Amino acid sequence: MSVRTRFAPSPTGFLHIGGARTALYNWLYAKHHGGQFILRVEDTDAERSTAESMQVILDGLQWLGLDWDEGPGVGGDFGPYNQSERGEIYDRYLAKLEAGGYVYEDDGAIRFRVPDRTITVNDLVCGEVSVNLKEQGSRRYNTETKQEEEANPDIVIKRPNGGYIFHFVNVVDDIEMGITHVIRGEDHLSNTPKHLALFEALGATPPTFAHIPLNLNPNGTKMSKRDQGALIHEYQESGFLPDAVNNYMALLGWSAKDDREIFSMAELKDLFDFDGVNNSNSKFDYDKCKWVNGEHLRHLSNGELQELAGPFLSRSGIPAADDRVPAALQLTRERAQLLSEIPAVIATIFESEVSYDDAAVAKVTGQDDIQNKLSALTAGLANSSGWDEVEIKAAISAAAEGIGVKMGALMLPCRVGVMGSTSGADLVPVLVLLGQPEVIRRLKGFSALLD
Ligand code: GLU
Repeated sequence: MSVRTRFAPSPTGFLHIGGARTALYNWLYAKHHGGQFILRVEDTDAERSTAESMQVILDGLQWLGLDWDEGPGVGGDFGPYNQSERGEIYDRYLAKLEAGGYVYEDDGAIRFRVPDRTITVNDLVCGEVSVNLKEQGSRRYNTETKQEEEANPDIVIKRPNGGYIFHFVNVVDDIEMGITHVIRGEDHLSNTPKHLALFEALGATPPTFAHIPLNLNPNGTKMSKRDQGALIHEYQESGFLPDAVNNYMALLGWSAKDDREIFSMAELKDLFDFDGVNNSNSKFDYDKCKWVNGEHLRHLSNGELQELAGPFLSRSGIPAADDRVPAALQLTRERAQLLSEIPAVIATIFESEVSYDDAAVAKVTGQDDIQNKLSALTAGLANSSGWDEVEIKAAISAAAEGIGVKMGALMLPCRVGVMGSTSGADLVPVLVLLGQPEVIRRLKGFSALLD
């Protein structure tokens, strides 16, 4: 039987990194096994579900490249894929439960009778979890009286207002849509015995379950939407690459058998399986995520880098069509971890006036004999007959020799004089791109500034 997995978000908020990782694991597992990945919208909670939230989720999945084989906008043989449009199917399944004597009415609600025996979940990640729902549900802790009280263990599956409850529609749809593997967050593990009881009452073979560990903040607290890195649309805005985010999300709970950490989507598809998923909670680390992004950025082709960096350059006022852009972008590969960090690395090349960083200037003004160094440097570079990296280095080296200092002693004044800062791209390639007249102009301007 072909593998069929599903991502079943409730459109009540943004696409969170935990949800996106669940989608990714479902997608990878289906693709690894040549199966199908289905997107199902769990929007039975009409009050909390919104079209905007759904759009954010769809956009996030699309940005990540987690395309669905069946679902909204794509269709498929098992639609509709929004639970709010599947009322007739749920009515049909409720009739089956009624016919089997599994349900009864209670104050206008419909309750499913839970069996009085041990139910064991055999989870691919968490192992065996056993529970007796009747025993477990018969007592409930009342947070107001702070006491245990008797409770009805039977599960409400339909509200008095006619709306169906999550547990029921979730199980019905997994049956109807032929889902073979339910991969979801560990927060749903405690629901699974109820779901198994429903599968059994409906005469259906349950899917295989895999509950993946939660993704927490570095200090072990639950991530909230306000935490850095929590929301997928912010990754796009911050200049992450979708495949890098997928790569990092894959590592939140999964590892390859070797120590590798950088993977393309094709590699993840090849390697991903549950034997690599661990059962302890993962800790989200924004810096590590940025590092992964930097690695992906470095491996982009020149064309890809140019296309992806384009919008970030334009936003910073760097004309993306400038013919120095392709060469300038090469200088950013080792210096930027995010697309949004690229403009700052090369901005000076495109500025008509140097913006001097005070701390950098102070490092140079504190040097002995700075005017002598600057004039030797300026004269040496002005006299260079050619203007490639080799010729520029030779000119700086000769200028240094001429005044009896090491070449290194001229590099910092040159960098600060021309680029205004001690950070940014490598100096000599920047000099090449700026061209000889502009470099001389900047050095003279800097010397005048220091006078
Ligand atoms: N709608 C549920 C959620 O967003 C999905 C649960 C499941 O994957 O079975 O948590």
